[in-house]
Amino acid sequence: MGKCALVTGASRSIGAAIAIKLARKGYDIAVGCHSQSSVENGGEAVAAQCREFGVEAACFVADVADFAQCERMVGETVGRFGGIDVLVNNAGITKDALLVQMSEEQYDTVLAADLKSVFNMMRHAGKRMMKAKHGAIVNITSVAGLFGNRGQANYSAAKAGIVGMTMTAAKELGARGITVNAVAPGFIDTPMTEAMPEKVREAALASIALGRAGTSEDVANAVAFLVSEEASYITGQVLVVDGGMVM
Ligand code: NAP
Repeated sequence: MGKCALVTGASRSIGAAIAIKLARKGYDIAVGCHSQSSVENGGEAVAAQCREFGVEAACFVADVADFAQCERMVGETVGRFGGIDVLVNNAGITKDALLVQMSEEQYDTVLAADLKSVFNMMRHAGKRMMKAKHGAIVNITSVAGLFGNRGQANYSAAKAGIVGMTMTAAKELGARGITVNAVAPGFIDTPMTEAMPEKVREAALASIALGRAGTSEDVANAVAFLVSEEASYITGQVLVVDGGMVM
């Protein structure tokens, strides 16, 4: 295919599933990794799984909260693959606490990793896509960004911010043939949700119409659709992937 997809936070869980799904679809994959340790503890194995589909794959390191590191990762990806056709902003963290107990550090760290990161990556990769007059961007938000969630003032603010930024980018980049959409997962079985207290997990599971937690592949399938030719007239949208958890 000769097209490249850059996926951030691809060393495990949802990001890994997205990378592998897009490799299956024929994309060369830039496996975005937080650090050299993420490359060694997941990233390289994900790249190897991608290569099984006959595409090229390599790991690129950047802390997505850092503007300059994102610029470097985008440059390295373009240097290796010749361009970026698909960007998936998946990397994210949580640092939960009730609003009145949340520290400034908890707020700032999550906003930097979950929201500024999306600006950083779209700023640098978007510029390349505009020159190429082509591209698809998917930002991973959350139902917490649409409806709020107890204990997640920082996370829900970041994820709501992603929705606004997605729509703005869709308006700015659309004339150059670039689509920008968001996917909002609900409760997906990953280390992020494993860290939740058992009671909170049970309550979340009980609220899902389809009666099960989502898988990373459920999210990857939605991303693969949004970057596909079949979705080329869809932009500025938020696709909720939550098994009917919020409606
Ligand atoms: P996860 O298992 O914790 O994986 C997060 C990934 O992001 C890891 O590869 C991590 O790498 C990377 N990452 C974190 N901070 C980073 C940074 N500053 N720079 C670069 N990479 C960084 O989480 P997940 O459940 O797969 O979540 C993936 C995305 O889906 C996140 O945006 C999350 O908010 C969203 N989401 C998840 C759920 C859910 O139920 N799981 C629901 C809604 C939305 P390191 O470990 O090496 O730091």
